[in-house]
Amino acid sequence: MIEGLLIMGVLGVLCGAGLAVASKIFYVYVDPKIEAVEEALPGANCGGCGYPGCSANAAAIVAGKSSPSSCVAGGPDIAEEIAAILGVKVEAREPDIAAPGCSYGYQDADLKYLYDGVRDCRAAVLLNGGSKVCPIGCLGLGTCVRACPFDALSMGPDNLPVVDPDLCTGCGTCERVCPRHIITLTSNSRRIQKEYTTDDCTAPCQRSCPAGINIPAYIREIREGNYLEAVRIIKETNPFPLVCGRICVHPCEYVCRRNLVDEPVAINHLKRFAADFEMKSGERVQVPRAPETGKRIAVVGGGAEGLTAAYFLNRLGHEATVYEGAPYLGGLLRSGIPQNRLPWDVLDYEINGILEAGVQAVTNKKLGRDFTMDSLLKQGYLAVFIATGGWDARLLGKDHDEALRVLPGVGLLVDFLLAQRGGTKLDVGEHVMIVEGGKSALEASRICLEQGGKSVHLVFRNTIEHSPFSEDEIRKAEQQGIEFHFEAALTKMVGEGSSLNSVEISYVADEEQKQTIEIDSLLTGAGRFPELIYVPRVGEGEEGAEIQSPVPWETLVPYPSPFAEQDVGIFRPGEPISDYEAVVEAIGAGRRGASSIQHYLTGEEVKAPEHMIRKNTQVLSLDKLEPVPEAPREKMPERPAEEQLANPDAEIALGYTEDQALREANRCLQCGLICYRRVEKSLH
Ligand code: SF4
Ligand code: SF4
Repeated sequence: MIEGLLIMGVLGVLCGAGLAVASKIFYVYVDPKIEAVEEALPGANCGGCGYPGCSANAAAIVAGKSSPSSCVAGGPDIAEEIAAILGVKVEAREPDIAAPGCSYGYQDADLKYLYDGVRDCRAAVLLNGGSKVCPIGCLGLGTCVRACPFDALSMGPDNLPVVDPDLCTGCGTCERVCPRHIITLTSNSRRIQKEYTTDDCTAPCQRSCPAGINIPAYIREIREGNYLEAVRIIKETNPFPLVCGRICVHPCEYVCRRNLVDEPVAINHLKRFAADFEMKSGERVQVPRAPETGKRIAVVGGGAEGLTAAYFLNRLGHEATVYEGAPYLGGLLRSGIPQNRLPWDVLDYEINGILEAGVQAVTNKKLGRDFTMDSLLKQGYLAVFIATGGWDARLLGKDHDEALRVLPGVGLLVDFLLAQRGGTKLDVGEHVMIVEGGKSALEASRICLEQGGKSVHLVFRNTIEHSPFSEDEIRKAEQQGIEFHFEAALTKMVGEGSSLNSVEISYVADEEQKQTIEIDSLLTGAGRFPELIYVPRVGEGEEGAEIQSPVPWETLVPYPSPFAEQDVGIFRPGEPISDYEAVVEAIGAGRRGASSIQHYLTGEEVKAPEHMIRKNTQVLSLDKLEPVPEAPREKMPERPAEEQLANPDAEIALGYTEDQALREANRCLQCGLICYRRVEKSLH
């Protein structure tokens, strides 16, 4: 007995000593800060921070790889607690929220078969892609609901998930488990940068809107009498609902599915109705802004495109300042459209809304006359967006006979040739590049060489076979020292202060094939200055960094619109080479400019999202509908002819009455990709 106790005691002492030695040998230092941060984290292990669990995120936060506010489940209080542990200031984080993107449950969607298997969407999708005909329709088995660690989801009566915004932390678990990518995380910033993709449920009308407005959603709100909510939805992607509601060329209506029944829904008149309601209500709808970033961006040009870019940059949390050469904002909207179509008080209300949202504006200050790119970059702007318009704008202004060189080293080919013909020689330096411009480019090249130029490069997107030049013309031009670059596009300019030093061109067939060419001037054959983003060269102009003088800079090209037929360079086929024909195109370009700047500022590549729906993308749709009762389109009431004669500036179109708007909104079929509202009885 005593022996046994002694043996056990000795064994215990030996084991204890062994463990003590092992703990010294295999000791791993754990930073007490990691333990403290992990303690502060909620322990949900939801993965919403992008790390496999709270421990991994705690280590990443202490290592500086993850933000103290990265825990979506913890919220601002926990972010503050973690920041206090680390002794840093917490940066504000914009909340994400889950958003289901399917509107038609089993009862209303077309089915391929009846599914009666395992109640899990991930299993159901394995059987011929799921039972719905729609390839991106919700399978309705609630896998997302069961996966949500915060009980923020439930299945609604139509078998579609419903989000409780008070409980949703934006952890993204639902997004990760949904086999159909129906639920995605969304926020103000994400919505500003949204381009429709083939994974989204979209109606024909919204796909064709250059501003990307969610048309069925705002018409639904009008139908339900929520007019201000309709305006909020429009302003998500378009800060000019009053203007567009009056002068938009409404490409959406040409593709409206209602055309298969009778006449298109009066989408634009409905937009005007909602926007007029806002103006008359005295209650301005402002869409929330992302937390302030402290980053300053300049926008040159106070027309529709520039104001739109500034509006969205402001909503992305940046400090946006518009510089406009004229004494007023609005550009062609004010100078080119008669008041009886777009009254100035209406335009002013809309522009004031943009300014009230926080955009700064400086009028009567012209780039090239009152300030330069260099002076802007010296002020610490992290990007300068160019939205200066072109010939249409200038013909209506007073400066149509000025040969402008507003961008460092860049001019319009038309200005160069007109000045030459008028007897003025424009100094373009010894090395010149001309982008596009057909035969005029060749004429200008010869003038450059006659005036002492040493090299001229001509850049064309087209193949040599589709160029306007004969073989003989090309051979003779080459003998004179003119170098042709076919199937190429301008992708970057690099300079310093007010000088252009070099450009980069890429080849259309192989974007990676690039060439850098040193030049003094670039003349563009297009009728307007290109939309470019000037940024200080890496390391320059960043917060805290000393700004060099003159400031070295380079340009970025905004990512292509859905209408571009190629992705490389500026002035892509399908995108306008002169002023925009429709204000809504300029608005779309302004939003994409802001989104491209956001990509750059957050370190993302400036490119269109994968699977973006393009003009020629084949999207599943319908060419006939089950019987839908006919209902005539509401007519826009107009000012009587005698009143128009007596007061030619008075607005002609008077806007829908509320009854008309409700009737017209009820004509909308609330289309999804292939689903639509099947109306049993007469719509009226
Ligand atoms: S959203 Fe996705 S996971 Fe949720 S019920 Fe629909 S298909 Fe299933
Ligand atoms: S019916 Fe409505 S949702 Fe469908 S295309 Fe026309 S406006 Fe858009």
